[in-house]
Amino acid sequence: MIIADLVRLGRIARQVVTDPFDIIQWTTSIADRGARNFYRHVFIVEIARDPSGKDVVWAHPYADWLGTSSTGEEEPALPDQNRACAVPFLLPSGGNPRAPQGAYGVPVYPVYDKDFDEFAAAPEALAQFLRGRLERTVQADNIDDKLRETISAALQPCFAALDRSGREKLLGVIALCDMREGGGPYIYADEAGGNTAQAFHRRIQASGLYPGRFIQGDLRRITAGLSEAKFREGASAGKVSQSKGGHCSFCGQAADVVSCYSKVWPWMTTTWEAPLPEPLGGQDLAEAVALCPECYEALTYGAALVSKTTTPMYTWVVQEIFSPNGSAVAAGGAARRSVDPIYGSAYVLPLQQGGSDTDEAVSEELISAYERKRPEESAAAAHFDRLLGLEYSLPMGLAEDHYRLSILYFSGKPGRADIHLRSHIEDVMPSVAMALHGLLDDVKDYAAEVQLAMNPQTSEKMLAFIRGRYLSLPYLLAKAYGGGGVWQALSAALRRQRLSDGPVVRALGARIREITHKLPDEGWLLRQEVLFYLTFEYFLARYTKEILQSGEVRKVRPWQELRRMMREAPLDALVVQDVEELGFACGQLVGMFSQRYWMQTKKGDEGQDFLRKRVMTFGSSLTPDAVIRRAMLRFADYGARVGMSTGSIHDILERTGVVLNQYAAMEDQVRRDPDRFMLGFWSGYALAGSLASGKQPDIESGGRD
Ligand SMILES: [Zn+2]
Repeated sequence: MIIADLVRLGRIARQVVTDPFDIIQWTTSIADRGARNFYRHVFIVEIARDPSGKDVVWAHPYADWLGTSSTGEEEPALPDQNRACAVPFLLPSGGNPRAPQGAYGVPVYPVYDKDFDEFAAAPEALAQFLRGRLERTVQADNIDDKLRETISAALQPCFAALDRSGREKLLGVIALCDMREGGGPYIYADEAGGNTAQAFHRRIQASGLYPGRFIQGDLRRITAGLSEAKFREGASAGKVSQSKGGHCSFCGQAADVVSCYSKVWPWMTTTWEAPLPEPLGGQDLAEAVALCPECYEALTYGAALVSKTTTPMYTWVVQEIFSPNGSAVAAGGAARRSVDPIYGSAYVLPLQQGGSDTDEAVSEELISAYERKRPEESAAAAHFDRLLGLEYSLPMGLAEDHYRLSILYFSGKPGRADIHLRSHIEDVMPSVAMALHGLLDDVKDYAAEVQLAMNPQTSEKMLAFIRGRYLSLPYLLAKAYGGGGVWQALSAALRRQRLSDGPVVRALGARIREITHKLPDEGWLLRQEVLFYLTFEYFLARYTKEILQSGEVRKVRPWQELRRMMREAPLDALVVQDVEELGFACGQLVGMFSQRYWMQTKKGDEGQDFLRKRVMTFGSSLTPDAVIRRAMLRFADYGARVGMSTGSIHDILERTGVVLNQYAAMEDQVRRDPDRFMLGFWSGYALAGSLASGKQPDIESGGRD
């Protein structure tokens, strides 16, 4: 369950992350690139009480916290985090960003372009803006209507004074720094870094009311405000007090509890839609899933952690996921189209043991896994990009089986609370991930080897491309099972469950039937499908044997062995074991005959393609029956027609006779599983090319490339 994971993650994080500065960085937008331009126009309003007890307001002209250093195309840096953390805000996700939303932990509010115009025109617009927000702000109870009017009147000229002649859209932030007695998050400092400064204080700017003094933020009070605001948001979608029997769904304690709803975690809607019983409306979420203040805070932390580790899947993997699995031609088009991104986020949790989670050392390591730079810098991390289709590094310290890895995949626009959860893969054992990781190394080498066998002229660049693709588990599985089956297959593979090649054989069969209508022109595409088929079967056999450690592995003879048998074995040792090997044997023979046919009919640089010319005439499909009746049974006849001497194809004819006998014995099996026969056939056919042992480098697939 995602939400339970987030609460656990957050609880672990809370043991380690204690500095309020870090907490603010984690749980607000101040370190997000999308938020930095708001710090271009920072409007600080200083509110104090004069010696006579009267409230005074000083609106500072806006300050640009990004500085002017950015020249030309260079993106501005993030605002100074030490300063920004005293003026933090959370960019709204979903809804109208200009309308007041959720709850505010401190009186700090982002301002959008249209607001600038309206505020410059009339202080009433500002007053209305502030009213809607102050009502929702945790630590702003002592700003009454009268004071709010005073603030608006003082602040309005700062907006009116702005030069709006430029075309660019303006963004800003208003911070009401209430310096009066009463426990708000802002206090005066006497001088720069003076003796009143604490580690949890951050200076914002010089006072406009008291020369020599500075406005500073108390980060502890700010985090307290933020945390309370979150809890209020949860309460807005449902609340049960302790006296009415409220108890926390996660830690079980009796407490005032609220729903899991949160503005910072737009996924709540997605992740809770399913388990929510129908009759429960928006206000009653707390009846279904309730959190105490501590668990709610942990949820906030955990959600922030996972959000920050979210990365897009590699585009080429996503393209494969969205490409039509049953059609090779359509799939080729899909690869060129742009696709909507899929995002992923991976996280590790310790196995739950008797309730309590982890000691501090473990927590630290776990948290470092989320500070993305650290594991990447460190060599002591397992890079699981090839397993997940996105950047992810697991620190070696966590690569043990008392941890479990989970991965969330989703698409949509998280910023607009529009999220489609595609998959939540839980409970992945690091040892299984490591084993798969190693297996994929062999898979990619195998793919390159098959490619070279089919076409020894393959360029280094193409080989590198092939290795890159076949190293990726999501790519392999997307090509095998299509967009409809890839998530289930990925989950099964990562969790050490059975994978079947039934759907793969059917989809590949359909793709190859389509391609063969266009032979020999589409010879390259055909070889790509053969490459995929052989490589996938290799992966599956190794996976079943080594990862599943299952006894039901189908004995697959390596293609090298089959090829050697077809070419060199004495006739009585020429024995196939199943339908697929039978197909392979037929493919080898047709391939070998095609080469002779091509040579025999060669005029200039070109010979004739046997399959196209004699077998698949008039666009007919190639079936097992056609392979036998229209090709193999007529080798001697067609050979004679183009002037081959019987002696020159004697060996092929003898071997054909042996295979045809075995076909007769297996005909029923072939009829039951024609796809597997044909996949074997095309594999054998494509791999016959290299038998030319270098003399005819370009004649594999029986003709031109
Ligand atoms: Zn709790």
